[in-house]
Amino acid sequence: MNTDIIEAKDLAKINPVFGNFSFDNHEQVVFCNDKETGLKAIIGIHNTNLGPALGGTRMWNYKNEAEALQDVLRLSRGMSYKAAITGLKLGGGKAVIIGDAKTQKTDALMRKFGEFVHSLGGKYITAEDVGMETRDMDIVNDVTPYVTGISESRGGAGNPSPVTAYGVFMGIKAASKYKFGTDNLSGKKILVQGIGHVGESIVEMAAKEGAKVIINDINKEQLERVSKKYGATIHHDLDIYGLDVDIYAPCALGATINDDTINRIKAQVIAGAANNQLQDEVKHGRLLKEKGIAYAPDFLINAGGIINVYAEIAKYDRSEIIKQTENIFNTTLEIFKLSDEKQISTHQAAFNIAQARIDAKK
Ligand code: NAD
Repeated sequence: MNTDIIEAKDLAKINPVFGNFSFDNHEQVVFCNDKETGLKAIIGIHNTNLGPALGGTRMWNYKNEAEALQDVLRLSRGMSYKAAITGLKLGGGKAVIIGDAKTQKTDALMRKFGEFVHSLGGKYITAEDVGMETRDMDIVNDVTPYVTGISESRGGAGNPSPVTAYGVFMGIKAASKYKFGTDNLSGKKILVQGIGHVGESIVEMAAKEGAKVIINDINKEQLERVSKKYGATIHHDLDIYGLDVDIYAPCALGATINDDTINRIKAQVIAGAANNQLQDEVKHGRLLKEKGIAYAPDFLINAGGIINVYAEIAKYDRSEIIKQTENIFNTTLEIFKLSDEKQISTHQAAFNIAQARIDAKK
């Protein structure tokens, strides 16, 4: 076949893995299938230069295989950069299981998935992501040691969300210090979009410090409960971008900073937990810089969770987890400095450091 005459978009259709838009020189992509349990999973191993590829397993009712593949490629790549910027001896990996976690997840399916993880001999280490719970990781742990996020009774480090929230809060404080000259949030208006596991802890910490907290979520009961508990103001309309706030903390979905929202954002600081906040890392990162909005890169400040699970591998204790998570404050400040010195976006500044570590293998 003469590939010269095939257009790029068609090549991507014919070559859905290596020609995939989200393929970024991934080392290995493993397709797992088991007829008996109905397991259909993809494990993406992006890079293992710094250590075994660690990243959670997501179970999601993907519309089709292409969507699942794209997700695993994108998420596993993100894990490489998150581990590298945090200084962890880990590579980047992720797994997706195709299906509805509420109706299709069985113990037998999770065990089978664990066997596939085990067959990779430790090159990939799994953990929880969307659709997974500690109990599922315990089942995986019955058949392989290559799993984190297991119960504390099995030697696990417990729920990572409070640690993630603490790291994000460090990122919010660092960005505020850079932008407002103080890391004290007292009197600052902060909008927390998504008040789930991570968002609620951020609301708690910000309210304690005297910030004026505004909350937004699709879950009305959650809004009422959190509002009452911490005295936060509810903003019901999901279109939050034009709100007159000092700090915007995206803690729900990715890609909220995009062509539609970027010109309406009034916040001077953006720092939150959600992964992949910039719809286009290069373009929107640069635009935020041009607008003078202090953006704390998501993959840097939401690394508390990975620090927490890494502790299970490195066998270190709670105080070391907190120390490393607290250090997100210093790293974020360094990234702002570098971004100014080199006149590049903060995303690019953090990415460059991570890439250099991956390339140097140390
Ligand atoms: P979660 O599911 O507990 O909370 C997400 C919240 O966002 C929910 O309350 C949900 O109702 C709300 N939400 C969903 N769509 C929304 C919308 N359109 N507008 C407003 N709110 C909406 O998740 P989490 O564990 O708190 O994680 C939050 C984000 O941080 C996710 O993007 C996750 O990938 C990322 N993250 C989490 C961790 C962790 O340790 N939990 C670590 C790193 C990154």
